[in-house]
This record gives sequence, C-alpha cells and structure tokens, in this order.
Amino acid sequence: MLIFEHSRPGRRNAAQSPADKTPNIPAALLRADRPLLPEVSEMDAVRHYTRLSQKNFSIDTNFYPLGSCTMKYNPRACNQLAMLPNFLARHPLAPEDTGQGFLACLYDLQEILKDVTGMAGVSLSPMAGAQGEFAGIAMIRAYHVARGDAARTEIIVPDAAHGTNPATAVMCGCTVREIPTGENGDVDLDALRAAVGPQTAGLMLTNPSTLGVFERRIQDIQKIVHDAGGLLYYDGANLNAILGKVKPGDMGFDVIHMNLHKTFSTPHGGGGPGAGAVGVADRLLPFLPVPLVGRAPLSPTPLPQGERGLNGMPPSLSGEEPTLPSPLRGRGVGGEGAGETYRWLTEKDLPQSIGRLSAWMGNAGVLLRAYVYARMLGAEGMRRVADFATLNANYLMAELQKVGYVVAFPERRASHEFIVSAKELKDATGVTAMDIAKRLLDKGFHAPTTYFPMLVAECLLIEPTETESKETLDAFVAAMKSIREEAFADAALVKGAPYTQPVRRLDDVKAARELDLTWKDAA
Ligand SMILES: *Cc1c(COP(=O)(O)O)cnc(C)c1O
Repeated sequence: MLIFEHSRPGRRNAAQSPADKTPNIPAALLRADRPLLPEVSEMDAVRHYTRLSQKNFSIDTNFYPLGSCTMKYNPRACNQLAMLPNFLARHPLAPEDTGQGFLACLYDLQEILKDVTGMAGVSLSPMAGAQGEFAGIAMIRAYHVARGDAARTEIIVPDAAHGTNPATAVMCGCTVREIPTGENGDVDLDALRAAVGPQTAGLMLTNPSTLGVFERRIQDIQKIVHDAGGLLYYDGANLNAILGKVKPGDMGFDVIHMNLHKTFSTPHGGGGPGAGAVGVADRLLPFLPVPLVGRAPLSPTPLPQGERGLNGMPPSLSGEEPTLPSPLRGRGVGGEGAGETYRWLTEKDLPQSIGRLSAWMGNAGVLLRAYVYARMLGAEGMRRVADFATLNANYLMAELQKVGYVVAFPERRASHEFIVSAKELKDATGVTAMDIAKRLLDKGFHAPTTYFPMLVAECLLIEPTETESKETLDAFVAAMKSIREEAFADAALVKGAPYTQPVRRLDDVKAARELDLTWKDAA
C-alpha cells in the first residue's frame, strides 16, 4: 500500500505544520495550488514507513551473503559518532578555522588509507566506487597526456571484471580491450602480453578477482603492463579480503579505489550513500581530485614554491615532514591539539588536478563512519577482518561441497568470497541459480549475487563476511542442503519460490524496462 492510499483530505500532522507562520517568500514565488501530497497524520506516516522497513531484508535482520558487496555488520558506534551534532550541523562552506576537528578526521582517514593500501596519496572526494574508478582512469589519462603520450587510449580489462570497469573506461573516452581468464581463475598472461602496446593506457584489475581468487601472478602482470608503458588500476572493492595483509602499492599498482561503504562500515544497498576514495602512487599525485585535506599553516594563498615537496605537492602530502609551527609535528594519525593546521587543498595547490567530482568534498557522513571504524579496529583489527572474512568463506565453501554443491575453483583457496555453480543441479533437476536464490528468501536468507561473474554457468557468488558466527553459517548450509533435497524431490516447489515474501517472483525484464514509479490517482 502506498502512503497516498492512506490519505484523507484535510488530515494533518499539527505538531510539525508551519501553516500559521507565513514564510517570508515573495507572493509571486508562492504556488497557487496545493501540491499533490498525501494527507496523513504523524502516526499514519510513522506506521506506514515502519511497516515498509519491516518488509526489507537487511543486514540488521538477516544473513546477507551478497558476493562482491561486503554486506557486513556496521558497528553502531560508527554511526553514532558520525552523527555528533557538530558534524551534522556543519555547513560545507564553514570556514576552515571553525572545522578543524572535522578536517583533522578526514586528514587522518587519508593517512590511514594511504597506510593500508601502500599508496602515496589519497583523495576522499569520489562518492561511489564507480566514481572512484572514473577518477582513477581520468588520472591515468591526464598522466599520459601531460607526458605528451596522448595516443594511449586503450584500457585492458579482464573478462571477470565488474561491469563498472569497462563502463568507466568508456566514460573517460578510452576504448576497452577485454582479455580472458585462464582455467584456474588467474588472468591469461599470454593474452595480456599480446594485448599491450603503445596504445595501452592501463589495465584495470580486481584482486582478489570477482571469481573469488587472489591473482597469483600479480607481479608478472604488473611488469608486463609497466614495461609496455601502461599504468595499473586496482579495483579495491574486495579490500576486505586483504586488509592489513598485502598492499596494492607493494604490488606495484598506480591507482586504487576503495569502496568505503563496503569495507569501512556504512550500511549500503539500493544505490547509496557511498564513498569511493582513491589512492595513488607518486607519479599520479599531482592529478588527484580536489579538495584534499592538507596539514599546513592556515593560509589563504598557495604554499610558496620553496615549501613544496615531491611532484609539486604540498609537503604534507608528499610524505615529507611539513614545515609546521604545530604541536602535531611527527605525531602521525590521531595527534591531539591540532590548532589551526588543517586546510583544504584546492586547484590552487594542485593545478594539474583532474578537478572536482562533487559540489563539496564527497559524502562526509560515510567518510566519518570509515574514520571511526578504522580507528576502532587499528592495524591489528584490520588484519583480523581479513583473517575472519577469509576463514568464513573457506569454511562455507567446504561445508557446501559436503552437502553436494559444486564450487567453481575447488583447487583454489577462496579469498573472502567464492562461486557455487548450480549447473549440475540444473542439468539434473531443472532448478537454476535464480531458483535457489528465491527459495533462500523463504528460508530467511538474503540471496547471494546471481549470474555474476558471467564466466561461470549458473553462478552464485557467496560472501559471508567476517561478522557472521559459525551458527549462522551452519544455518545457511542447512538451508542450502534442504533446497538441494527439494530440487530432487519436487523441483516445481523451488521454481515457484518465494512464497513468504510481500511479493512473489517478479518479472525482472519488465521491472527494468518498464519501471513505473509515479503514483497516479486512480479516482
Ligand atoms: C561494488 C563494486 C564496484 C562499484 O562500486 P559502487 O560503489 O557500487 O559504484 C566496482 N567493482 C567491484 C568489484 C565492486 O564489487
């Protein structure tokens, strides 16, 4: 039921209605007719939206093993601290000297992410993973163009890549060259060698890949692309698997995006909100999107040339000790007594920047949650995230094999996710990966990612994350086992699922092609 259907003419929420206070708006700008809004009481509205929220599958109510999306529990403390009144009330145009605490948090987050990824600089401004990708490829393009190497316009993308990778390359005016994956899940090196050349701008790689395995010849890949004059882009959406273990910077990558909303504690889904911070190696520092946060004396003008560090960057970003009259010198992350030492770095500081990606500086709330989460975990906690994310995935993979499921790469250790192929089940019973996914909803579990990556037939990409208990994982295995038994005993039962949800099975194609979200008064 839509809220419009609860509407009764004249029903109001008196407590919040400003009706009597005529706002100071010129008459010419006031609308003549009432807007077509639902007329309900406050209680009607509360009940309506509470009921709607209860129809949702969410990480707060159910296990949510949606591969490649890292749907893990988000500690309430992160939300609570990000919602402190002074953060919430801060205007994005507030002067730097009234927002030093906020800037200090973002500066520290930049430093933490540099450390975790092994990169030389980080910009927090992209507002989604896909926008981080866009920033990354735009920087790679800007780098080649700045060197007079403008003919490098081809981006190599393995066929296991997330759909956003080739889309990003095209959005940046590049052409995409796809290379295949070998039988064991690693990139086909011969195909890579054949693909690189003077036209190569770079390679976009996800590691661990969307097939759920860690690329074993990452060093060779790095060398082949760099030797050909290309740069390396790391899709860091799967950072949960390697957090605190290995660093993309150490693997020789030039740029990475992180999905802070996946790895660093923001509830996500349904399209937002997100933060796709980008990290870069030295050679891409001048091109980072602005604004960044620098730690330097407050000054309305750019730092004089003499005070600039590596690559023309302010010393605070180049890794050199900034010339500060500040008690923060040498204290690193989390120093106290910041004084007025943080400021926005803009186009004036980075004249070669690819520019701005949003009106202000990204999704502040998501960034603050990430900052709190990172500080709560510390380096040791981050390693434990990767330890348990990987342990849970390998446990689940082994247990599902025991109850008869076929996994895509049984000879490989899983990263933080793995693929089950329902091909054999489909051949034997007609039950598909989609049928399993729908039946799982009846059994109280969110469906895994289905039919992605498309390289594996009847693919279910399962990511348990580190925050689930053994009991939950065992319950999931029991549900998967019972679906398998149902498939052999009564395939029609599974194919008709779900039975317990607010809606039965939807027509995916119709929902995508003929989406109708506008309410029309039937009367
Ligand atoms: C989620 C994801 C992306 C895109 O991130 P968004 O924040 O959804 O734009 C890119 N690559 C991979 C591997 C992902 O899992």
